[in-house]
Amino acid sequence: MIQEAVKPGSIKEAESLRAQGWAYMAGGTLINWVASPLKPEKVVLLEGLVPGTVGREGDDVVIGAMATLQSVVDAEAAPEALRHAAGMIPSRNIRNMATIGGNIAANRPDSYVIPALLALDARVVTTGAGEMPLMAYLREGKGALITQVRIPPVSGNIVVDRAVRSSAAYPAAIVAVRGSENACVIALGCVANHCVRLESVEGKVTSGELKTEEDVFQAVYDAIEPPDSLKESAAYKRTIAATLAARAVMACRGNAASSLQ
Ligand SMILES: Cc1cc2nc3c(=O)[nH]c(=O)nc-3n(C[C@H](O)[C@H](O)[C@H](O)COP(=O)(O)OP(=O)(O)OC[C@H]3O[C@@H](n4cnc5c(N)ncnc54)[C@H](O)[C@@H]3O)c2cc1C
Repeated sequence: MIQEAVKPGSIKEAESLRAQGWAYMAGGTLINWVASPLKPEKVVLLEGLVPGTVGREGDDVVIGAMATLQSVVDAEAAPEALRHAAGMIPSRNIRNMATIGGNIAANRPDSYVIPALLALDARVVTTGAGEMPLMAYLREGKGALITQVRIPPVSGNIVVDRAVRSSAAYPAAIVAVRGSENACVIALGCVANHCVRLESVEGKVTSGELKTEEDVFQAVYDAIEPPDSLKESAAYKRTIAATLAARAVMACRGNAASSLQ
């Protein structure tokens, strides 16, 4: 339970407190959630310290880490695929509090936002470690303070999809796919401890080795090993994730109406 909260006067002070074991707190939806695995006693409040605006700098869309997921949904400057993904979190109350920086740093397997950002080739700007691809932050960021998310212009169609048993339930599978003539990104949530990219399958889609929906289904099916959970078996998750991914790849290829910019 949180015992102390400090609003630091500078990023430097925030980083110094973090180095002493304090936790960053953005929207607090995860840190303050009763079922959260995170139980910090001392938190550093990021509100007012880290930007939360959504806009453009040159060709890039730039999203302050403190932007709430609802503000991303509402932002015309943000890519349609990201707005769609952020809107999948069913509760508006949570979307009004949860931030994009917090969602990335939490790195939960059921993040709706991370797969879409991976498909968009998003980059993360941190104070300590500078700017890096999102996947590098997820793998090596080790808690560095995120200040911005930058999204460059990308080519191709994007499909974001999920399987969910009811409107308010946790997702069973999340898929974001970007496909163009010479590139493919396949990012999945809920099939491992964290969101993943299937680079081995992506290469085979781009090279034309995987031609049909069945080919892509089988390759994705073979590439993932989701954990069993109380609500969905591993076999179900594997099948539904591979099905969504294969459909998304075909939709991207075919300029389907379901694809997003
Ligand atoms: C009941 C419930 C269900 C949810 N379901 C989903 C879901 O299905 N899919 C989904 O995508 N989201 C879901 N969310 C929201 C999401 O998982 C996170 O709770 C939220 O995005 C985290 O953002 P926050 O700003 O509240 O982070 P906080 O709770 O403030 O922090 C989360 C973590 O990120 C760190 N952190 C925060 N900001 C930064 C930063 N700028 N730099 C570095 N580290 C930082 C914190 O130290 C902490 O470790 C759900 C939330 C709740 C409460």
